[in-house]
Amino acid sequence: MRYMQVLDCDVANGLGWRVSLFVSGCTLHCKGCFNKEAWDFCAGKPFTVNVQNKILELLHPDYIQGLSILGGNPTEPENEKELIPFVKRVKEYYPDKDIWLWTGHTMEELVPRKDELIWLCDVVIDGRFEEDKKDSSLAFKGSGNQRMWANVDGNFVLVNGPEDLNPVKCVNGYVVKRREDGELEFSLPKVS
Ligand code: SF4
Repeated sequence: MRYMQVLDCDVANGLGWRVSLFVSGCTLHCKGCFNKEAWDFCAGKPFTVNVQNKILELLHPDYIQGLSILGGNPTEPENEKELIPFVKRVKEYYPDKDIWLWTGHTMEELVPRKDELIWLCDVVIDGRFEEDKKDSSLAFKGSGNQRMWANVDGNFVLVNGPEDLNPVKCVNGYVVKRREDGELEFSLPKVS
């Protein structure tokens, strides 16, 4: 995997002071994408062990609330291969910090493929950027079709926005559940 940049004290992508990792590579090619240079999987720099260790170091201070992962698109399978073990390491080192993920895929696409990365994250913002639904007033979303999901004890609930995260206020009762047998059950709103 390669990455475009790491921000060490980011307040724009998630709640609180955060370390943000922007990965390279996206196959979705949304019209009006703000970050076309990140479509190329060869763009940026290699995500080496040294870079990973540096991110762990940057996450250390108490004032850093967590890690944000953006792109490109982190849920491209080739990116997930490296992100999954890395995020597991982050969680091991810092169980109390939160992890936010932005993906161009939707939950409807990710859940059936038994995507592991999303389940390691506390907040997931899903969906393509849709130019005709662009709305700069939305917190942490580029367009109105994108949704914010909170991981509550291993189930994802749909929330309106960051104001619903603490305590978590689920909207419309939409939940993605992991059953005891490991299978996933989901009831999702229709994306307009
Ligand atoms: S998913 Fe994100 S990076 Fe990929 S094309 Fe859409 S807006 Fe751009």
